[in-house]
Amino acid sequence: MSAAPRKDPAAVEFEVREKIHLEILKRTGAYHANDHMLLPSGQHTSEYIEKTLVTTEPSFTEGLGGVIAKHFAAWPIDVVLSTGPGALILSHCVARAHPSRPVVVYGMKAGVGRGRRRVTLPIEFQRLIRPTSRVLIVEDLVSSGTTVNLLIELVEQLGAQVVGVGCLWRRTSVDVNGKPVFSLVSRDFPTYSPADCPLCRRGVPLNEEFARRSGQRRSSSVQEPTG
Ligand SMILES: [Zn+2]
Repeated sequence: MSAAPRKDPAAVEFEVREKIHLEILKRTGAYHANDHMLLPSGQHTSEYIEKTLVTTEPSFTEGLGGVIAKHFAAWPIDVVLSTGPGALILSHCVARAHPSRPVVVYGMKAGVGRGRRRVTLPIEFQRLIRPTSRVLIVEDLVSSGTTVNLLIELVEQLGAQVVGVGCLWRRTSVDVNGKPVFSLVSRDFPTYSPADCPLCRRGVPLNEEFARRSGQRRSSSVQEPTG
């Protein structure tokens, strides 16, 4: 009897690691799977990730940041660059665990109309990214790749070099200007219009809680009294 075909051990290890990382993200409450959810957009999906919850568990963030740092350990890195609060928390963890002891800086993200974004490096940070600097870009989730591509452009405009991009989650199809990308999870999740949804067709009950919650949810805020 011939032996069953074996999978490439590196591919198996990658799959196992990815499952572990997904499980960690599930524990933070950020990753929802095996469901039939209505999204606020009206589309249906079986998986979803809530970006803001990804970095809420310090020990998980440190562990995941350590895995990214280990991947880039062989490259000397002077600066870790990110933008956005979640990515910045992860950046700190990556930088702390990297043998080069890089500094951490961040760009400020803003909308410039018609859904376009701009990233600005605060003036105080500009002396930290020099023409000789080797920069690692860190993101939490890379879904469209727009932010990462803007960060790459920013670094190259300053004459510095992007060593690579490290992130927790990357949509498989995203291209980041040909730079080496390391993601703990590489995964797309399809969304369907209700008319084409295979889960609807199979009669799986639709979970509307998520869309309802985000429709009703209001941020808590406080402000200084006037006068
Ligand atoms: Zn459906």
